[in-house]
Amino acid sequence: MFRGFDDVNIHNYLIIDTSNTTRNNSYKIIDFHLSDRCNLHLLLLVPFPTDNDIAPSSLIYRRSGFHHLSDTYPQVIGHEITHGFDDQGRQHDKDGNVLPWWTNKTLQAFQSRAQCIVDQYGSISLPELDKFLPNITVTLNGINTLGENIADNGGLRQAFLAYQLYVERYGEEPRLPGLTEYSPMQLFFLQNANIWCKSTDFLSLLLQVITDPHTPEKFRVLVPMSNMKEFSDIWNCPVGSGMNPKNKCQVW
Ligand SMILES: [Zn+2]
Repeated sequence: MFRGFDDVNIHNYLIIDTSNTTRNNSYKIIDFHLSDRCNLHLLLLVPFPTDNDIAPSSLIYRRSGFHHLSDTYPQVIGHEITHGFDDQGRQHDKDGNVLPWWTNKTLQAFQSRAQCIVDQYGSISLPELDKFLPNITVTLNGINTLGENIADNGGLRQAFLAYQLYVERYGEEPRLPGLTEYSPMQLFFLQNANIWCKSTDFLSLLLQVITDPHTPEKFRVLVPMSNMKEFSDIWNCPVGSGMNPKNKCQVW
């Protein structure tokens, strides 16, 4: 079932391998990356509920993330597809060639929206590093992380829209026993936050901020959600509160 990184060469198709899926071996390949050559590199095997598992669709749609074995695909697909239209991906045409194919109007709109993301993430400081670096204010690097941040924001939004479509089509799901205080839509966001739980130390965090194109997990939760009006509506966040800032960024 697992075909590794380099032995797939699939042009312009999304492939989800459902073969050999059994209850005891309930894995599907779900993470892929749209490379420069427009190949899909299948990266992960992930657990996925089978027909016999108790797993509301809302949980499946909200299970998200990219590099954990608990991932499943709606947001991952959204994230990876959005990479095809981020600051790097946009420079490639449908065949993977580096070729500008957007109109100037589209490009200008993209750059303006992308700048919003750059400024937003770049203004986030990390006070937990202050005691180690007393004379330096460390902030996220909004430029180096732009592609991943665009994909994070786009991926969450697309997963949410997909789940909304599911609810429109099949009706609202019942509340989950034990968590009945939360609506399915609220659980969508809770589960998304849950998969990013991580504890880190000073050096790891500092290294991540300096070298990693991915934003530290805490902000992969907070920022994309705070950019969604739907999140604020569902959680009744007052305008101007931390998770409902007046200035929201949206590229896709
Ligand atoms: Zn990514």
